[in-house]
Amino acid sequence: MGKSPKRVAIVGAGVSGLIACKYVSEKGFHPIVFEAQSEVGGVWTHTVETTKLQTPRSSYQFSDFPWPSSVQEKFPHHSQVLNYIQSYAHHFDLLRFIKFSTRVIDIEFDGASNEEMGSWSTTLWSGNDEPFNHRGRWICSVEDTLKHTREVYQVEFVILCVGRFSGVPNIPDFPPNKGREVFDGKVIHYMDYSAMDDAKAAEFIKGKRIIVVGLQKLALDIALPLKKYKMIPKHDFSQDISSCLISTVPSNFYDKVEEESIILRKSPKFSFCKDGVMIDGGNESLKTDLVILATGYRGDQQLKNIFKSPIFQKYIQGSLNTTVQLYRGCIHPRIPQLAVIGYSESLSNLYTSEIRCRWLMNVLEGNVKLPSIKEMECDAFQWEKYMKRYTAQYYRRSCVAAVHIWYNDQLLRDMI
Ligand SMILES: Cc1cc2nc3c(=O)[nH]c(=O)nc-3n(C[C@H](O)[C@H](O)[C@H](O)COP(=O)(O)OP(=O)(O)OC[C@H]3O[C@@H](n4cnc5c(N)ncnc54)[C@H](O)[C@@H]3O)c2cc1C
Repeated sequence: MGKSPKRVAIVGAGVSGLIACKYVSEKGFHPIVFEAQSEVGGVWTHTVETTKLQTPRSSYQFSDFPWPSSVQEKFPHHSQVLNYIQSYAHHFDLLRFIKFSTRVIDIEFDGASNEEMGSWSTTLWSGNDEPFNHRGRWICSVEDTLKHTREVYQVEFVILCVGRFSGVPNIPDFPPNKGREVFDGKVIHYMDYSAMDDAKAAEFIKGKRIIVVGLQKLALDIALPLKKYKMIPKHDFSQDISSCLISTVPSNFYDKVEEESIILRKSPKFSFCKDGVMIDGGNESLKTDLVILATGYRGDQQLKNIFKSPIFQKYIQGSLNTTVQLYRGCIHPRIPQLAVIGYSESLSNLYTSEIRCRWLMNVLEGNVKLPSIKEMECDAFQWEKYMKRYTAQYYRRSCVAAVHIWYNDQLLRDMI
């Protein structure tokens, strides 16, 4: 009797999880995909009405599944992006591997003891020369979000595809008596706003004075209007590119600025008062009914929270002045039998997730041998130095955008 295929848990059925699922099943492993939501598509299942793809369509394309000819837009609408991703899942018959409405509560490694793993250093990942170790497996505790029942799965490998633009919102800190508690109006994070359907969102904001905090994603093509409206940031645009903090604004955005239904204000800091918001350096409040915090997400926290072991949590989080250490953007040198796809960003995340999945399959099949833990740590440290040098305060985003081709070549060289 042949050996049963190795089980690979994939957490998340966004773009990264779907690609991982396709390659894992093609290579003869047994994928089990856990998806907290009831459909595939990740961030594209809940975006605001005006959102379009910001990468040109031709760069945001699966290598073996082109966009349908009915989509001609260079920057398709988010509903077209979602349709495209869903068609991919149907075309490659991936839905049969996915457990929908199933949230992974935590994962725990059962294998070598913490002391043993702590002593791995000049040795190889997993303590041996293989991606799998016969002693090691992951225990995944999951919850059915509809029935509220719990189950446990045992797998030989885990691929975390939990994304970084959902889950844990980044909420700014405020000094005492200057936070949201002193404000009479309502405060929500962009995450809650984008989770509403279009009709509900329109009803929610109807007739309200609204302040949106955060306009971090800046594009070169809006530099001129930014100058006109005195919104040019102090730092260099190259930093925004290197940290993937670029995007396009919705159509007619500046028409609305001209007619003053949108007012732009530059302020590095703000605080709350009873009837609104005080911006740094100002002494009058900006009166408002609703504040929407478009202040981003804590992707590192989301990743960390999935581990049961405080030691692995510490490994992922690192210290606050380090990046999340991922060799080739995928493998934590000290967390065995596990990979992360989709954490470190690029300008075309679909492409990057696909090339990473191909690389990872080579690792799982034993065609690409990982170097020793020490060597992987040194490599990750070199990337950290690069991130700190070129992306300044945004280095924890671990973005490979500006050196995308070089990074890509590195993965390809490994695979030769
Ligand atoms: C508004 C917006 C516009 C964007 N535009 C672009 C663009 O133009 N170009 C580009 O390259 N990138 C863009 N991105 C980045 C985008 O995140 C990536 O392109 C890509 O969609 C990420 O896919 P992912 O699968 O890695 O993560 P996600 O799409 O975030 O998917 C993660 C999935 O994991 C699930 N999950 C998380 N935790 C758990 C758990 N514990 N248990 C079970 N399931 C879980 C989530 O429900 C989700 O479905 C954009 C992002 C946003 C938010």
